[in-house]
Amino acid sequence: MNREQQDQFDGGRRLPLVEDFYTIQGEGFHTGKAAYFIRLGGCDVGCRWCDAKFTWNPRIYPPRSVDEIVERACGYKAQAIVVTGGEPLLYPLDYLTGRLHERGLEIFLETSGSHPFSGTFDWVCLSPKRRQPPLEEAFGRAHELKVIVESEADFEWAERNAACTRSGCLLYLQPEWSVYERVTPAIVEYVKEHPQWNISVQTHKFMHIP
Ligand code: SF4
Repeated sequence: MNREQQDQFDGGRRLPLVEDFYTIQGEGFHTGKAAYFIRLGGCDVGCRWCDAKFTWNPRIYPPRSVDEIVERACGYKAQAIVVTGGEPLLYPLDYLTGRLHERGLEIFLETSGSHPFSGTFDWVCLSPKRRQPPLEEAFGRAHELKVIVESEADFEWAERNAACTRSGCLLYLQPEWSVYERVTPAIVEYVKEHPQWNISVQTHKFMHIP
């Protein structure tokens, strides 16, 4: 991050917020839990099938006060916060996670792991992307590896990433939403043959919630 950007984000006291909302975590290990989502703008990975392309350009999301974001989150009954994007690790996250922890909230991170870590998290969901693979440190931090499967060719990519995770990291295969019908049967068979993997589906899309 250059000097101008550092000034803009004031050491993480301001962040480019896309949206924040209280909903149910729809995918991965914490599926079904009520959680307050803080979605930050900006991502330089560029996945073709990304369902959050509206987040990519951070310039259209002016930096917003983290104190105000935290106050708003505390106005809900949420016990857990999901920090997502975009790619949240583009920004210094220590201030955000410090303020949220002071309020007794659990913090879950959703990341591609393609940028250096900042912040302190209770749960890290690492979702590796071929276009910009995770940095080595991301594997050491992940509690959960969630690989998006677009075709059967992705199983080998999933195994390559799983081999880098630490012991105890949970492994998930998640069908890419636009090919859900086509790819899910292959994922089911793969997991039956390789039971160290679990299946994650985007249940929020079935429930028509954000
Ligand atoms: S890393 Fe995530 S936010 Fe970024 S392009 Fe890929 S799916 Fe979209």
